Amino acid sequence: PSSNDFPSANGPRPSTPTFFNNSFLNLEPGNPTMYESYWKKMGDKCTVVIKGSELLSYMTDENNVCWFMLPELNDAIERLHRLVGNAVTDGKHVVVGTGSTQLFQAALFALSSSDDSPQPLNVVAAAPYYSEYREEVEFLQSKLYKWAGDAHVYDKDEPCIEVVTSPNNPDGTLREPVVKKAKQGKLIHDLAYYWPHYTPITHMADHDIMLFTFSKCTGHAGSRIGWAIVKDKEVARKMTRFIQMSSIGVSRESQRRAAKLMEVVCESYENVKHIKSENFFHHSKDMLTEKWVKLREVVEQSVVFSLQKYPEGYCHFTGEISEPRPAFAWLKCNNGIDDCESYLRGLSIIARGGKRFGADPKYCRVSMVGKEDQFNELLRRLSNVTGNSKNEH
Ligand code: PMP
Repeated sequence: PSSNDFPSANGPRPSTPTFFNNSFLNLEPGNPTMYESYWKKMGDKCTVVIKGSELLSYMTDENNVCWFMLPELNDAIERLHRLVGNAVTDGKHVVVGTGSTQLFQAALFALSSSDDSPQPLNVVAAAPYYSEYREEVEFLQSKLYKWAGDAHVYDKDEPCIEVVTSPNNPDGTLREPVVKKAKQGKLIHDLAYYWPHYTPITHMADHDIMLFTFSKCTGHAGSRIGWAIVKDKEVARKMTRFIQMSSIGVSRESQRRAAKLMEVVCESYENVKHIKSENFFHHSKDMLTEKWVKLREVVEQSVVFSLQKYPEGYCHFTGEISEPRPAFAWLKCNNGIDDCESYLRGLSIIARGGKRFGADPKYCRVSMVGKEDQFNELLRRLSNVTGNSKNEH
């Protein structure tokens, strides 16, 4: 069975316990449950009531290229980007999808179906890359596109689509395209983590296709809402067509809820009486900062594990200089341990090994966006390793 960010297609894996109370601590998926505590505090502010008589139609907005998108969601997305200053939306087209997973595939379709070549278009991403790209590209064995691996070593004399993930999943680094311009062809920028709780917002991103997801922005992965900001109208039209073919649009209930939550985030910043630390991005940034400080403390004491350092940056949104606080820790095993995933399993910690990301198995991706009790248990297990501490003799 596939072991992506979700349960496998064959149902839950019986050999992989999900919760740490039956001894295994599952930090393998990037399930953003840490934000639940914030939304609980918001109480009824975000409640959406939908009457039985509402949202019946397949059609929503015939004047929009993305005809199944609620205008209120389009407005909320643009308002959120204006507030944060992380992406240019002026003069662009917004396409909503059932998660950015659907939009990634819509973008592959749009870019490869307009390519004249009879050969499938190569799709590459620089390793370590988000493990799902490869699986999504290969899944349907398409004649339009095919997986061509690590962008760092792409040497074919054929055009390609490069997926640029910044900040990157799994290692949190900021990235730019690596395939040389002449061969580059087309780019998809996956900016799932370009939000101020994860990284300083250093500039307004302005690329041809930018993918965002509600899952990592506010933590509402279950709503399955993502959006693409697309420069070219024809590409936006083709992406819309792909979504029409796969699901005749995107749930209006989910769109309504996403719009409401985004409005609540924006309003809380626009309210003159607001206390910054209680606003969503500031609050989440503080929570992630605390987790990273604690994790680094444990890792610094360890002779087995190490973590990379990230350069500081000035965030235009918060007005502060800070290090990034990635949604995942890219943990490295040292001391001759070649397989970090197996090593962590020995500690009853389930994490995703480097190999799945096209990288060295000495690395493992560990979720930082789970609930606090899970995270504290992770710290406890990492610091309890025999021979782990630099202070032990
Ligand atoms: N891109 C990246 C880089 C991700 O990490 C994820 C979620 N793990 C996705 C896309 C998919 O997001 P969604 O829930 O919107 O399908």
